[in-house]
Amino acid sequence: MPHRFTDPWLDFEREHAWHPYAPVPAQVAPLPVASAQGAVIRLTDGTELIDGMSSWWAAIHGYCHPVLNRAAKRQLDRMSHVMFGGLTHQPAAELIRRLVDITPPSLDRVFLCDSGSVSVEVALKMACQYQAAKGQEGRTRFASLSRGYHGDTIGAMSVSDPHNGMHSLFTGLLAHQLHLPAPPMRSLGPFQSSQLDHTETLIAEAADSLAAIIFEPVVQGAGGMRFYHPEYVAGLKDIADRYGLLLIADEIATGFGRTGHLFACDAAGITPDIMCVGKALTGGMMTLAATLATDQVAGAISSAEPGVFMHGPTFMANPLAAAVASASIDLLRSGDWQGQIRRIESSLTTLLEPARNAPGVNDIRVLGAIGVIEMEAPVDMARVTDVLLDMGVWLRPFGNLIYTMPPYIATAEQVERIVEAMRALAGLVRG
Ligand SMILES: *Cc1c(COP(=O)(O)O)cnc(C)c1O
Repeated sequence: MPHRFTDPWLDFEREHAWHPYAPVPAQVAPLPVASAQGAVIRLTDGTELIDGMSSWWAAIHGYCHPVLNRAAKRQLDRMSHVMFGGLTHQPAAELIRRLVDITPPSLDRVFLCDSGSVSVEVALKMACQYQAAKGQEGRTRFASLSRGYHGDTIGAMSVSDPHNGMHSLFTGLLAHQLHLPAPPMRSLGPFQSSQLDHTETLIAEAADSLAAIIFEPVVQGAGGMRFYHPEYVAGLKDIADRYGLLLIADEIATGFGRTGHLFACDAAGITPDIMCVGKALTGGMMTLAATLATDQVAGAISSAEPGVFMHGPTFMANPLAAAVASASIDLLRSGDWQGQIRRIESSLTTLLEPARNAPGVNDIRVLGAIGVIEMEAPVDMARVTDVLLDMGVWLRPFGNLIYTMPPYIATAEQVERIVEAMRALAGLVRG
């Protein structure tokens, strides 16, 4: 911990808090945050950091947005939560109406749940129950794309990349799924249908045991920040249809405009059978996710034994989160999100491109409001924090990747500062 932070609670935190993907005690001390406003995070010593991460894709409108805060406060005074089993409420209904409205056509049945990983578990269970209802009880495995990431729970891990997810650590625990080739990156050239030949062969061989293909459309996030062609997505849909598999689109990172389309599936012009959303659903205010399905999927599950979908989280359809999510969707749709994303995309492209030939840089890529510098070697995390504090920017590189997905409300100057910091970090690993 840089000695500048003197909060009395920090020592105890360090002794007892467990941070994500970090040793205990944490090697790089987490920075103490006092508050956040717009695209700025304020630390307890008064330092201001421009947020390049949107708190993991979520805070698309920035922090403390008055519209979202008002929605939360209004709902708080009515009720913060009631169970969704046997009861229902307007915040859920309003959110479901919006989700049906803005997602690809035919995704007409909405299951609200707690977090992205849970929405993935829900999607996998839906696919299994669907196949069983169709008399295909043997179809209980899943095909997924290598380099994919679908969450940290056991089922979600089993369909995530086996190397990034360290599957060898969990042998015996994780179901044995079919890991398909990673889609070729856009930068390698135009889409060719032959890129899916091997994938189709693998699916054909295992089809009898497969319930669904799960994938992140167009952008593979935590598995490598890789961008691939929308035509590839359409190709996957076609293969899934021909072999009797459902297609599960994980839009938890890509949803709500991040790629320049409201949903990445829109770029491919497809409707998946099941779709997961999360992260930006509440504009980053609190945790909420949803699994959407077609009426065919929901109808089949309900028409066979046991006649119900076997899932029901305690905090399902939390009214507080649902009210904020509706406000966030309205805010998005009433604003110029396309213009915001286009402007961020063009700034990121212009400002990052000169770094392409810098020593140690492997690739530069930009899509929508996502900018990536891929290095040849891992970033030295111990030195990252000091540089970020100096430059007044918040980023969280992982592995070889220095990347940003800023809030959509970030100004041109803020985006410029973020890119300067990214380039400074890229300079760190030159040595
Ligand atoms: C973050 C993420 C998840 C997991 O969501 P949590 O809310 O962290 O459980 C799943 N899939 C994708 C594509 C994600 O980016």
